Amino acid sequence: MNQSTAAIPPAPQTVRFVLARTSHPGNIGAAARAIRTMGFWRLVLVSPQRYPDPQVEAMAAGADDVLAHLVQAPSVTEAVADCTRVYGLSARRRGVNLPELDPRTAMAEIVPLLRQDREVALLFGNERSGLDNDELSVCQAMVRIPSAEDFSSLNLAQAVQVMAWELRMATLDRIPAAPPDHDAPPATADQMERFFEHLFATLHAIDFHKGRSAETIELRLRRLFHRALPDARELRILHGVLADAERMAKLASDTPKR
Ligand code: SAH
Repeated sequence: MNQSTAAIPPAPQTVRFVLARTSHPGNIGAAARAIRTMGFWRLVLVSPQRYPDPQVEAMAAGADDVLAHLVQAPSVTEAVADCTRVYGLSARRRGVNLPELDPRTAMAEIVPLLRQDREVALLFGNERSGLDNDELSVCQAMVRIPSAEDFSSLNLAQAVQVMAWELRMATLDRIPAAPPDHDAPPATADQMERFFEHLFATLHAIDFHKGRSAETIELRLRRLFHRALPDARELRILHGVLADAERMAKLASDTPKR
């Protein structure tokens, strides 16, 4: 085995690999090795079932620098709060209203974002159950490795390897840099969440749902706004619109009915 112990290149890398609720510590080590072999190093763990554990180092096989930089986050929301885009990896077609991409198509979006130093997360689910609904709700798109229909689930670390490989191939200068189409920075996941909270609260304030369930419409609105990739300035305008709608709703409800 000839694993280099040289320090990770100092170049800032704006892609992170996030593993949610990992069951097997060996997979954490194998994922560290997988991303290290492709020149990446940012691994984030959310609520691993067993960590630290000797199997992590055993399976990392010398990718110690990745382990040294490993970050733990208390929730997926916090793990991706500063990200412009979050891609959820899933073996199954999920009944969610999100675009579903194959890895290569995803890279055509991701690489231009990385070239603009935008933070991007690739989010992987638990070995048995995959991504849960809360984890899916922070994603703007799903990525499915087009595996065999009747045996579609890869080992977690192998799914990480496929994505790291695709990212490496795509960054070896095959995808032209896209010109930036925003004059303000795209909103982060955290800013998007605060916008959704405001939007959904306003819909209640104006009695938009009229007793019907809000869930489906909220999912569709999330999809719409994620697709639009609003920047921070555009979100400020939308917050302003919502604040005015809330003010008018309050005025209307305060006005005595005749
Ligand atoms: N039964 C689970 C499989 C989990 S495998 C499910 O149906 O989702 C653990 C993780 O590896 C998944 O959550 C996903 O992030 C990744 N993964 C495995 N196979 C994949 C595939 N074909 N495409 C995309 N991601 C995959």
